[in-house]
Formats: sequence, structure tokens, C-alpha cells
Amino acid sequence: VTVRRASLNRREEAPLACPGCGASYPASARFCDTCGLPLVVGGPQHAILEPRDERHERARKIKPQFTEGPLIKVAYVRNQVEGEFLQGLLLEEGVPSILRRSAGFDVPDFLAAGPRDVLVAASGAATAREVLLENGLAPESREPGPPASPGRLLAGLLGALALGLAVLWILSLVVR
Ligand SMILES: [Zn+2]
Repeated sequence: VTVRRASLNRREEAPLACPGCGASYPASARFCDTCGLPLVVGGPQHAILEPRDERHERARKIKPQFTEGPLIKVAYVRNQVEGEFLQGLLLEEGVPSILRRSAGFDVPDFLAAGPRDVLVAASGAATAREVLLENGLAPESREPGPPASPGRLLAGLLGALALGLAVLWILSLVVR
């Protein structure tokens, strides 16, 4: 009875687990920070699933030793498609990665397109950089200039609009 209670307590502490790397998460979490996979209930003993679809296949390739440590940015890509291609290359070497919209581009106009940062766990960063170099992709090659904040972008757009309206107003005066 004592043993059973202990295991129940542990499950209450971390009722969710990642099917990719087996990491435990609190009930408030939805996705694995490392793999980006949706978390499953029941702890690691239930987490190892047979590859049934692409997502499970992806999870199966991930090497657990590349899932430790904080997320580190290893590359900058121009769009989602490029990012996913890169993620595929990294995954072939067992390195899970996530794509994140680059700073300053997280406004609605840029949700579908726009540049992405590719992040991997610290323990996988060295391997990730090797993969990038082997494929002729210089890691961290192109940083955009100082990222414009969404607020500043909006201010710029409004400024341009105001200028346009002023020009129209002046023209209307001249024509009259
Ligand atoms: Zn994971």
C-alpha cells in the first residue's frame, strides 16, 4: 500500500509527459519545451508510443541526450518552410528543434510568413551546428538588424499613412 501511494504521489506531481523525450511536466503544461510535442497523460511509462504517424516517427528519432539544457538559437531562417527543412536535417541526427518567430515579427501580418529562429536544447547545439555546416548553412549567419518592436512598426505604418493623407489634402487644396 505504501509503495502504491508513493507512485500515485509522483504521478500527481508530474501527471504529463512528453512522448518524445519522456520529460515530465506539470498539469498546466501543454507542449514539451524541447520537442514541441503535445504532452500525454500518465508519466513516462505510458509515454513511449509506437510510431503511428509522422509525429510519432519524429519523436522516435529524437536522441534524449540532445534534449537537455536551456534552448539555444542555432540558426535564423527566412520562413517556416526553410525552418521545417532545417528541422528535418537536425532530426536525422537526433536533434529536436523548435521554430520561433523572430523578435519584432510577431505581429499578425507576419504570422504565416516571416523569419524564424531555430532553437535546440543546449546539449544538442554542437551537433546542430555541425549539421548546419555540413549542409552549407552557416549557423547564426544572418541576424536581422536591431529588431523593430511591433509597436514601433505600427507607429511607422501610421506615420506613413498620416503623411499620405497630408499629401492628398495639400493636393486637394492646390487643385481647388
Ligand atoms: Zn520532449
